[in-house]
Amino acid sequence: MAATTSKPAGLARHEAASALIPGGVNSATRYIGAPFALTAASGAYVTDADGQRYLDYHAAFGAILLGHNAPVVNGAVRDALGGLDLTGIGVTDIEIELARLVTDLIPSAEQMIASTSGSEATAQAIRLARAVTGRRYIIKFQGGFHGWHDAVARNVISGPDTAYGRDPMSAGILDEALDATLIAEFNDLDSVRALYQTHPEQIAAIILEPIPHNVGALLPTQEFADGLRSLTTEHGSLLIFDEVITGFRHTPGGYQQVCGVRPDITTFGKAMANGYPIAGVAGRRDLMQRFSSAGGDVLLAGTYNGHPVCAAAAIATMTYLRDNADFYERTHRLGDRIRAGLAGILEELDVSGVVTGFGGVFLVYFVDGPVRGYRDLLGNNHDAYVAFHRRMTEAGFLMLPMSLKRNHISGAHTEEDIDRTLEAARDVLKGMRADGTV
Ligand code: PLP
Repeated sequence: MAATTSKPAGLARHEAASALIPGGVNSATRYIGAPFALTAASGAYVTDADGQRYLDYHAAFGAILLGHNAPVVNGAVRDALGGLDLTGIGVTDIEIELARLVTDLIPSAEQMIASTSGSEATAQAIRLARAVTGRRYIIKFQGGFHGWHDAVARNVISGPDTAYGRDPMSAGILDEALDATLIAEFNDLDSVRALYQTHPEQIAAIILEPIPHNVGALLPTQEFADGLRSLTTEHGSLLIFDEVITGFRHTPGGYQQVCGVRPDITTFGKAMANGYPIAGVAGRRDLMQRFSSAGGDVLLAGTYNGHPVCAAAAIATMTYLRDNADFYERTHRLGDRIRAGLAGILEELDVSGVVTGFGGVFLVYFVDGPVRGYRDLLGNNHDAYVAFHRRMTEAGFLMLPMSLKRNHISGAHTEEDIDRTLEAARDVLKGMRADGTV
């Protein structure tokens, strides 16, 4: 008689979900095979439906910064519940406090508006830039991701045949919307100058992730960051820093605090509330006054904007980050430790690759370096990248098994966690060496 084996609980959940939700997930990149479903999260760890624990480097795509279920955030949320809920009239004390914190922390922020997601924030920022300049085009960089809406859902992880060309991430986007977004190369000012030449006085804004973390971590040269500031000023365009990932993660003021460049508009989200859905746009007062709430001509609307529970989570997270400077010292030190450890292992095993990242973000590109822009990533060994993350996940270290995805260290990770990760990485890379994956 054949032995009956029961179906893993995670797979059963995935199958049940797939009957009701397309693909069984509410965001396409959440489907990674196993683990199919997580049932608990605490600090640096998550647990799947079959009871396996993982050290979490995925961090909900970077939304978790202090660790899962951080008591300081949960406490603030609990306090907010039962107080004034959503009314749709006027303003709450919580929204004023939120705006005060954001404008205090982000160097270029004079005023802010709150939204629910990063995609809404970038959509608002781009529309504002077009309204203010009266121009049609925006420039984004190959590899940059700014959300799912029509203006920007193109040219992120493109293959060699589609990079720099027309590479929409979705069907259903009007050609006109795609055509109004121009693509340049990160860390290459000439590629930006060329677009200004072909589209004189027609470019409303340049939008960039100051570190394009959606393709790992391309590190901007100071010359590039300064050059974008001067080019946009010279040509009457706006500079938009999309700090949805870098904001609050690397410093309280985002990457603009590191590079000293002041964008006209900043978008932020994710880590600002340690996993609660809130995001925003901040910028120069004269620009922000164009929103219809201030009598301007750029529509500002959103039922949930500044929701008290999410705003309370954001205030708690940002206050913690502002008042605990050692948070950054610690996560950056752990980042340095894992980057140095991984580089040593690659060398020891004679595996060619580039270990990179910034602060608590780290990753290994399986390419010969140096890596400056997206072009240098076209030769990334996709199979090796995915295999490394997949095998690390199987070993209990959750790393998104997709090419060019990054790993995040939170405030809950310890030195011991990092050292265990390095031991596992050595074993995984040894195995990949042995079976010819690298
Ligand atoms: N901007 C950047 C840099 C992002 O990484 C993301 C999401 O990954 C977004 C914008 C969109 O944010 P959301 O998923 O909250 O809509």
